[in-house]
Amino acid sequence: MPAEARAIYWFRTDLRITDSPALTKCLAIPNLKSVNFAWCWDPNYIYGHRVGLNRFSFLLESMQSLSDELTKVNKSQKLQVVRGPPEKVLPIMWESWGITHLVFEKDANEYAKVRDARIKKLAEEKGVEVIEVHGRHLYDPEQVVKVNGNKPTMTLHQWQGVAQKIGKIPRPSETPKKLPDPNSTDLKHSKKDEKYKWPGEDLNAEIRTGKDTCYDRMSGPKGDYSVPTMTEMGFSDATTTIKGGTVEGHKRLDTFLGNPEDVATFSKPHTAPTSLEPSTTLLSPYIKFGCIGIRELWWGCKDVIEEWSKTGKGKKTSEPENMFGQLEFRDMYAAAETAQENFQQIRGNAVCRYIDWALQNQYNDKGDLILPRPRDDDEEAEERFAAWREGRTGFPWIDACMRQLKHEGWIHHLARHSVACFLTRGQCYISWERGMEVFDEWLIDWDPASNPGNWMWLSCSAFFAQYYRVYGLVSWPAKTDKHGELVRKYCPELKDFPDKYIYSPHLAPESVQKSSNCIIGKDYPFPILDEHVEKDRCIARLKDAYAVGLHGDAKEVLEGTAKQMLEDKHAETGAGEVKSDKEKKDLKAAEKRKRSGDGNIEDWTTKKQGKKGLGPVEKRDG
Ligand SMILES: Cc1cc2nc3c(=O)[nH]c(=O)nc-3n(C[C@H](O)[C@H](O)[C@H](O)COP(=O)(O)OP(=O)(O)OC[C@H]3O[C@@H](n4cnc5c(N)ncnc54)[C@H](O)[C@@H]3O)c2cc1C
Repeated sequence: MPAEARAIYWFRTDLRITDSPALTKCLAIPNLKSVNFAWCWDPNYIYGHRVGLNRFSFLLESMQSLSDELTKVNKSQKLQVVRGPPEKVLPIMWESWGITHLVFEKDANEYAKVRDARIKKLAEEKGVEVIEVHGRHLYDPEQVVKVNGNKPTMTLHQWQGVAQKIGKIPRPSETPKKLPDPNSTDLKHSKKDEKYKWPGEDLNAEIRTGKDTCYDRMSGPKGDYSVPTMTEMGFSDATTTIKGGTVEGHKRLDTFLGNPEDVATFSKPHTAPTSLEPSTTLLSPYIKFGCIGIRELWWGCKDVIEEWSKTGKGKKTSEPENMFGQLEFRDMYAAAETAQENFQQIRGNAVCRYIDWALQNQYNDKGDLILPRPRDDDEEAEERFAAWREGRTGFPWIDACMRQLKHEGWIHHLARHSVACFLTRGQCYISWERGMEVFDEWLIDWDPASNPGNWMWLSCSAFFAQYYRVYGLVSWPAKTDKHGELVRKYCPELKDFPDKYIYSPHLAPESVQKSSNCIIGKDYPFPILDEHVEKDRCIARLKDAYAVGLHGDAKEVLEGTAKQMLEDKHAETGAGEVKSDKEKKDLKAAEKRKRSGDGNIEDWTTKKQGKKGLGPVEKRDG
């Protein structure tokens, strides 16, 4: 053991000093003389990963808030942002600052695992002791997987069984009341404080409107390791109203816990996706960046509910719909992702069903993912996808949710259900990989396990299999808001429509469109597809895919023959055919007449229908 220990605490997705088991461990290092609180501003995230302005802005605010909290405890402390890839800048810091220990919170997702393995190897070579401590989830996902027989957890029930075997969730760690000073921050061994240049394609080039000076110096423009700004990255301001930071996160947490009845009776299915004010906690961005500790929320709820139960005022809700159930789902996905290779894609993913979606990922001959994704030959699917992403599908509920997502970086869970179902198995039959990618870019709370996990759930590719249950594009939002507040806010061109047509303006008579100052087809689009026809077609195709029963790791998927196999199956079952409601009704009637010996079906349906094909979309109930 060195006579004097000098540590770097490496912050990643744990931007807080409360409830931090890793920080507690760091401060307990024997003979600890100094701690440098560092953040590596990793260019892989800045250039190699598509990230929207809202998430960048939230992250910067959270870094600043953490830095302020450190300074509050010790005036000479702050967050030191070192700009460059961790494997490059950490060794420079170790050598320049005489570091003996590197401490960080464990992160078990696929990308972090590979990065951290590289860092641990480098540290070992340099004689720096690594202390890695679990704290991001209720239970360490790697431990969950181990107890689950090295298998991913695919149901909540399964996860709960494992959790019971592991034992009780610890109480939040103490918040430190004092912190040691930092060591020197001179970069003696770097040549010197040099500019870093990203070698690959800048995937965020599209949103960079100004000059990018972010990596001109390792220690920042003034050499003081300051938190970067949106301007330094060449970005304009974010649009979200959600403010980042551990202080904001704790305020939100306290507000939630301050209403014991709401905590005790929280029931996710009864919250409203249509509400203008979030009807759930909106804690996800703070949980994602670790601005609040997960045990603070868990034990906060436990304690509040215990007290409330004593009042005998009512019945508390239970899992999975209560708050504990929500947090358990998060852990379930984390353990599934930790165990399952290729969790973020179909190819090579053993838990994901193969369905012949349009616009799946494209790979090169070596099997590597091609990024950015080249445009597909399927123009109809590309156009549907663009309309979905841009909030111009002609279905106001879908468009409002997608516009809110882009503007705020957050939408309600059941709004996520609606748009995910619509894009995949509900109507568009487009790969969940495309939807996941857009969420990955725009969500502030983007999580590498919860995002793909929920997309697989919603598309009935894994976790959930009831593909015949599809969200109505008009009936579903109307259940919680007949007036359409969210649509009126995010699709302002529709704001003057009467309630009757707010979710289906294409059905409004011309006179109503005129008096609502919005002509469908001119000021707002017609629906891009027929809701019911496409729904039936999707269900029939899903049925085929389930019957064929391939998963992402099947030989046929890896060799590229699976799509044809499913197309053959659809040809056999007729699942690919489009039938309008009217056609279906006519066919049924024709069948009946045929059975009674009355004429030729073809003749009869053609005569009754006038012409073959779809009826006008705008006449249909959306
Ligand atoms: C297609 C799709 C993609 C999603 N992608 C993400 C994602 O990238 N990141 C993310 O945090 N959540 C994701 N979710 C889950 C869920 O929608 C959000 O966690 C939730 O809406 C956040 O709002 P809240 O904090 O108000 O949630 P609350 O209902 O208040 O729940 C509290 C916390 O529980 C956790 N939680 C709740 N539901 C889930 C769930 N189904 N899966 C995982 N964790 C959950 C979150 O950490 C959330 O903050 C996704 C859901 C869908 C349907």
